[in-house]
Amino acid sequence: MHREVTTTVRVKLHSLTERKARLIEREYTAFQDAVHGGDASLYSATKQQAGKVRSNKNPREDTDQPVVLRNDCITIEHDEDTVLSSWWFKLPIYNPKRERGDSIWVPVHVPEKDTHLLTDEYIRDSELVHRDGEWYVHLVCKRSVAVADEYDDVLAVDMGAKWIAVSTFLSDRDTQFHGAEVRRVREHYKQLRKSIGKAKVRQGAQVIERIGDKESWTVEHELHQVANELIARARERNAVIVFGDMTGLRFDNDEGRYVNDKTHKMPYAKLANILTYKSHLDGRECIPVSEYDTSVTCWRCGSQNTSRGAQGRVECCDCGLDDNADKNGASNIGKRAVGKDIQSPLSTVGAAVAQPETQVVLDGTSGEMEPANSPKDVGLTLSEGSPRL
Ligand SMILES: [Zn+2]
Repeated sequence: MHREVTTTVRVKLHSLTERKARLIEREYTAFQDAVHGGDASLYSATKQQAGKVRSNKNPREDTDQPVVLRNDCITIEHDEDTVLSSWWFKLPIYNPKRERGDSIWVPVHVPEKDTHLLTDEYIRDSELVHRDGEWYVHLVCKRSVAVADEYDDVLAVDMGAKWIAVSTFLSDRDTQFHGAEVRRVREHYKQLRKSIGKAKVRQGAQVIERIGDKESWTVEHELHQVANELIARARERNAVIVFGDMTGLRFDNDEGRYVNDKTHKMPYAKLANILTYKSHLDGRECIPVSEYDTSVTCWRCGSQNTSRGAQGRVECCDCGLDDNADKNGASNIGKRAVGKDIQSPLSTVGAAVAQPETQVVLDGTSGEMEPANSPKDVGLTLSEGSPRL
């Protein structure tokens, strides 16, 4: 099976001649005019894109929109022999002197780690971005990677509020908690913001903006760490990764990624995206499954006659389960991923989990009894999942 992986490569324009800088500036300004309903001259394909941005987003007057560059109008080339720059980008612009569309070659800096992605066949519609007085092109590179069809276990991931992620193997419920740091970072900055809020408004706003930058960088770094941990864990047992699809998370086909409209919430969408593409790059399937009822259903007997206990525990009034709530949720996500009704006991997860022959007591749980299964029992093939990517 193959999956498309989309990566955005940020290349920075540098050493622009005055003439090229002027042409880029003109094109950018004309694009802003066009997305807000004006009729400025633009490279024709770019003008079409402006029309699309206008009708899809209807951007506010006071916002800048990146110039959308159609993929068949752009090229990036490596040229070792030029002293000025080893990478050059062909940018479509409107040339007012000739009164027609034209292209200019501009020197760009490409991050070393991304150079292998810059093949024409990978490049999709991209964006010209103006930020802090500098010009960037965000090159969207999409490529197909092979992912395995068969796995020996399921690693189910529940993205929670306390921990950024809790992961459980379906076969034996071996569980790990990931990313407490994210919460700590956010708490720290929340306090900081509160204290700044009391200072003079204008100065405060600037400081808060900087904090926002620092915070999002730190959180992003943490999310990458969590994703790496999860993938390493899945690799150990040749497991497929499945994650609970949070409310408010939706897959945007145009963007080719998950988006979350509730940006003030924990960054689920971001983690879902990072986890998905990293997993695919690892040759591993990563599938969202509905989170509906997974937190209120007992993983062991399927009853919904449960209650939230203290300190993130969940208690089942029917079978007496007393379990970590996130672990319980993750177990249900794992069950659902293999196409099973979560309201039946785990022991009925078909071939996935054989009838328990022995009972084991897991560390860290309050004497909870659960079936012992080896990962070999799972024998899952992916046709049972419901990929939505
Ligand atoms: Zn129960």
